[in-house]
Amino acid sequence: MNRRKPIVAIDGPAGSGKSTVARQVAKRLGFTLLDTGALYRCVAFQSRRSGLEATEAAALGELAGAMVVRFEQAGIGKRIWLDGEEVTEAIRTPEISQLASKVSALPAVRQALMGTQRRLGEQGGVVLEGRDIGTVVFPDAEVKVFLEAPDQVRALRRFEELRAKGVEADLA
Ligand code: C5P
Repeated sequence: MNRRKPIVAIDGPAGSGKSTVARQVAKRLGFTLLDTGALYRCVAFQSRRSGLEATEAAALGELAGAMVVRFEQAGIGKRIWLDGEEVTEAIRTPEISQLASKVSALPAVRQALMGTQRRLGEQGGVVLEGRDIGTVVFPDAEVKVFLEAPDQVRALRRFEELRAKGVEADLA
């Protein structure tokens, strides 16, 4: 595919530092940072509102495919609209974090969001991070990075991340 600007895909396991690196790379290059986790959070938010259980895979896949998500880069923060409603803060609660993790395990949801991510990033000039960005979503990305970090560092980072979200966790 001919893109005017490249796609930078950053993969790696939890706690390897993907978000931090993605943010800094996007800033340095003047690229758009596509927050793919926010898409999973939007599915979680919408599913709760629709009264769907995290096990209703087919319905959740449909819901994910029908969502219209818009990102607005505004100053430091980034605002997110879901079907015309601003959900920037609403998708960051501990409850939505946990639900997002559950719905992200469903193949039907991943499949639907793959299409969304491709549409959002296909023009290039974007940095995406997530566990399957370079392998599944954009296997033809011009730049692919797989981040690793020692287990101890990953555990500590994940631990602090969870605690910041208000989720009970112990380091061990
Ligand atoms: O990064 P964030 O915490 O916002 O991600 C929300 C949820 O979506 C997490 O549970 C994460 O595992 C999942 N996710 C995913 N694939 C991505 C990005 C996030 O499964 N590319």
